[in-house]
Amino acid sequence: MDCKSHISNLKFQISDFRFLFQILEFKYRVRFQMELIERIQQIKTVRNAVILAHNYQIGPVQDIADYTGDSLGLSIQASKTDADVIVFCGVHFMAETAAILSPDKAVLLPEKTAGCPMADMINAEQLAEMKAKHPDALVVTYVNSTAEVKAMSDYCCTSGNAVELVASLPKDREILFVPDQNLGAFVMERTGRKMILWPGYCPTHVWIEPEAVEAMRKEHPGAVVLAHPECTPAVRAISDELLSTGQMLKFVPKSDAKTFIIATEIGIVHTLKKMYPDREFVPVSNRAVCPNMKKISLEKILWSLEDMEYRIAVPEDIAAKARLSLERMIEIVP
Ligand code: SF4
Repeated sequence: MDCKSHISNLKFQISDFRFLFQILEFKYRVRFQMELIERIQQIKTVRNAVILAHNYQIGPVQDIADYTGDSLGLSIQASKTDADVIVFCGVHFMAETAAILSPDKAVLLPEKTAGCPMADMINAEQLAEMKAKHPDALVVTYVNSTAEVKAMSDYCCTSGNAVELVASLPKDREILFVPDQNLGAFVMERTGRKMILWPGYCPTHVWIEPEAVEAMRKEHPGAVVLAHPECTPAVRAISDELLSTGQMLKFVPKSDAKTFIIATEIGIVHTLKKMYPDREFVPVSNRAVCPNMKKISLEKILWSLEDMEYRIAVPEDIAAKARLSLERMIEIVP
């Protein structure tokens, strides 16, 4: 064998070896994941736990959850179960909401640093200052907020019911809307009501640019663009439908479209594909990723259940007031 053919033979053997290694690695990963899932299921039974996963969680976490959905819907669902433990795969304020609605259950957040930058854009002192400047105003707070801020509010709202809720409020009252200025502006457009907006925003939705929407439309002619109201005005203006995640899931079967461009956090594409395998879902941008939502893994769920960490509790005086603002919302928009 000459030198050239010896080298090419060697290269062939190396690529062969790499391929074999990839197969073994894949098999190992699948086995490892199956074992993890089995161990989670076992300890979940021992703890009498329920696992909740927000629509923005990674696929394997959504797949192992008992319930997937939006933060308030999940918290309400969990409160109706007889579970002793709630594992909330989401971010801190979501686990707080679950703790507010289920004071008799232990609520666990598998990753303690999973927070929401938007919820942290307003705190109790800042809201108190805002209220002092507008003493007669009603405070409407998006559920993506801390328990303390909810406790100082007249009403909570979700991205799905904010329009209906604000439209029902007395016309002669000023309204303070916190913390998301984009959702607030969307509500003002839809209701024609002026509100005083806190300048908070979701960094993940702000990453979605109108140019990305236009580029995707060109790539997928005839596709319907579904955007979340947390998107910027420029994105909202060129989208076909402005919907909360829950509304997106309900909208798809009512539409004749085959392809949907999704302008919200990328995780919901997994949920949509699972629910509607005959349709095509394209994320508007691969940058629409909430890093906090991606901090939870199957390993962390297992450790959380094993060690009963990280326990999220809300002091009862704050929880009682926050619960009231949620209950007032449910009275108006059940
Ligand atoms: S997607 Fe936005 S609003 Fe939701 S948790 Fe992440 S930062 Fe907060």
